[in-house]
Amino acid sequence: MDEEKYTLLREQMLREQLEPRNIDDPRVLQAFRKVPRHLFIQEEHRHLAYRDHPLPIGEDQTISQPYIVALMTQFLELQGDENVLEIGTGSGYQTAVLAELTDHVYTVERIQKLSLQAQKVLHNLGYKNISFKTGNGAAGWSDKGPFNGILVTAAAAAGVPSPLIKQLSPGGRLVIPVGDKFLQELRLIIKEKTGIREQRLCDCRFVPLIEKISDLN
Ligand code: SAH
Repeated sequence: MDEEKYTLLREQMLREQLEPRNIDDPRVLQAFRKVPRHLFIQEEHRHLAYRDHPLPIGEDQTISQPYIVALMTQFLELQGDENVLEIGTGSGYQTAVLAELTDHVYTVERIQKLSLQAQKVLHNLGYKNISFKTGNGAAGWSDKGPFNGILVTAAAAAGVPSPLIKQLSPGGRLVIPVGDKFLQELRLIIKEKTGIREQRLCDCRFVPLIEKISDLN
């Protein structure tokens, strides 16, 4: 498929999957119009890149469906000058969307092979405002914080990891799926002067956030 065809598919994705489902932040829509999602997807699945579902990215991991990436991003309410932390780099697609919308993105992935592959794609696309780390993202990235926004793209079975809340700036927003393999909900956590405000957003389904070796089973 040529690039022109992918551009048309991308426009169609906005029209059919994002705009009708209340993705209405013009900056978020513009980022989705721009980022070439197909380049983050292995060749064998590339023709499906703009479909309304998740896809495998190797190592038993998945890239979320476009709508979920958009929804999570929109809940961060980025204006352009934030320091953002992403846990679960995966393919790097969500990282690219965030890098379009803010000053700097720090992203942590536990599987080195995925991180290196994502670094290659993002480097080729010319992104210069992303820092990568391989390791356990449940610990956050304390020496680069605090963060105005934190986005976690794997589900935390044991609840919201406390280092992530700790590394949020005052007024900062954390979007995270919480739950086990079968039942998960997306949550928005806002650090307010008076304490932590938590909102349940919707049911969802993500790969697990691996916090301990025993989570690997
Ligand atoms: N944002 C990605 C989605 C990848 S799926 C994308 O757009 O493609 C979630 C990713 O989280 C997987 O790559 C998985 O390896 C990673 N992950 C799981 N547990 C993790 C942890 N504790 N720390 C960092 N990354 C983790």
